[in-house]
Amino acid sequence: MQTIENAIAGKRHVSSSTRHAQVFNPATGEQSAALPLSTPAEIDEAVAAAKAAQPDWAATPPLKRARVMFRFKELLDRHAADLAREISREHGKTHDDAFGEVQRGIECVEYACGIPELLKGSFTRNVGPAIDAYSDRQPLGVVAGITPFNFPAMVPMWMYPMAIACGNTFILKPSERDPSAPMMAYDLLMEAGLPEGVLNVVHGDKEAVDHVLDHPDIKAVSFVGSTPIAEYVYQRGTRAGKRVQALGGAKNHMVILPDADLDQAADALMGAGYGSAGERCMAISVAVPVGEKTADALIERLKPRIEKLKIGPATDKDAEMGPLVTAQHRDKVLGYIDKGVEEGAELVVDGRGFSLQGYENGYYVGGTLFDRVTPEMTIYREEIFGPVLSVVRAGEYLDAVKMINDHEYGNGTAIFTRDGDAARDFADRIEVGMVGVNVPIPVPVAYHSFGGWKRSLFGDHSIYGPEGVHFYTRLKTVTTRWPAGIKSGAQFTFPTL
Ligand code: NAD
Repeated sequence: MQTIENAIAGKRHVSSSTRHAQVFNPATGEQSAALPLSTPAEIDEAVAAAKAAQPDWAATPPLKRARVMFRFKELLDRHAADLAREISREHGKTHDDAFGEVQRGIECVEYACGIPELLKGSFTRNVGPAIDAYSDRQPLGVVAGITPFNFPAMVPMWMYPMAIACGNTFILKPSERDPSAPMMAYDLLMEAGLPEGVLNVVHGDKEAVDHVLDHPDIKAVSFVGSTPIAEYVYQRGTRAGKRVQALGGAKNHMVILPDADLDQAADALMGAGYGSAGERCMAISVAVPVGEKTADALIERLKPRIEKLKIGPATDKDAEMGPLVTAQHRDKVLGYIDKGVEEGAELVVDGRGFSLQGYENGYYVGGTLFDRVTPEMTIYREEIFGPVLSVVRAGEYLDAVKMINDHEYGNGTAIFTRDGDAARDFADRIEVGMVGVNVPIPVPVAYHSFGGWKRSLFGDHSIYGPEGVHFYTRLKTVTTRWPAGIKSGAQFTFPTL
């Protein structure tokens, strides 16, 4: 059985921890690796390596740092299919979906390749008599990232390429459930010429995370995961004086207006609701058709599509959806379906009891559809993170808007319509960070930034793109004057022009 290693100061080590987590192949239910849960002393070692490497790395010209990123991007392109296979093996998502994840990660590396331009400061001559000023952004030092299971390659790449390109050194604590893809990406970055200690990967659980949050030598923490942990990470990290961005969970609604092309809307809901088995923070988990006629027509289109969903392991090229990540998570999702029935929602397609010949021990749940869900129900309020779509019927457009704005989460949302005025009004009024108009999963491209509102993000910065540059740097402004410009004599008044 494989044992997952840490990477500290450029060397791979097996942790000396006596505590272990198990990594599974969700398609078969077999254990594929053991993952030692690193000790606080091992976090200290990684931080010490990162701290020692940081001054030289920060002094390396941005163009040279960018060249490492260019080589990393080429290696990622060359190994994208291998990385996708690693993701599928431990996460369960289909190969094409995993490949898409790798591509979106690569786009963040491509953006980081522009670091010389992104860090270019501003200069003003003669801010006063013979006085010049320049502003630029400087790295923070050692920074850390803590990432979730659902995008084991891409979410770390939302963080470390930009953090490193800015001149920081980095400690990555990936998810315990699918650690192999981030290790493969680490190897490629080292092959690209990254100096030892600039990126360190340490596996672990709460104990490791708490030590990262309290460590005085870590200046900032990026976190992506569920809302309760995001809130905890934000509070503990900021209490320790760190800059923290903590992205949390979601409940993303798609509003379907009566004038929408309903076949397009139904197809969009299939991909956004059931792609990656619903394990995406931008998955659509609530459809809000406006008007009874729209709702009936939508259900009529969704039901056969869900019943025909091709579910299987990533090795099956025809599979549209894979298993859930772990047995516990599958049981949690099944529990939500039971709860929905218990609370009176109408179960239109029941994914419980789904079984696949030859893969009876895999963590599969069939596509599930509920109609007549109401905002009081648990399946509406909580994030299920599985292949379960709830239809909440809205009488009027404004009822739909109010319902979304009242929800505790505000990550993503979409509206399907042909009416430009309605779409514009929706984009204005809606209290959600990322909005799609006839785009079901509006994940911003790498040169914009990603971030939800309300309890989907704790902190002041969204992640990657221009906000990433700001998060991983701090502003310095230097005002200069040379002896020829200095008038003799002390000046006691506040300087003005
Ligand atoms: P999770 O919160 O369980 O774990 C995320 C990270 O936190 C992992 O590295 C884990 O080891 C660590 N962790 C877990 N419990 C902890 C604790 N008690 N104390 C300290 N650290 C702890 O999330 P997950 O199940 O891996 O991922 C799914 C969640 O992530 C969903 O809620 C999803 O919406 C969210 N997510 C959000 C975004 C976003 O951008 N907003 C993106 C992807 C995933």
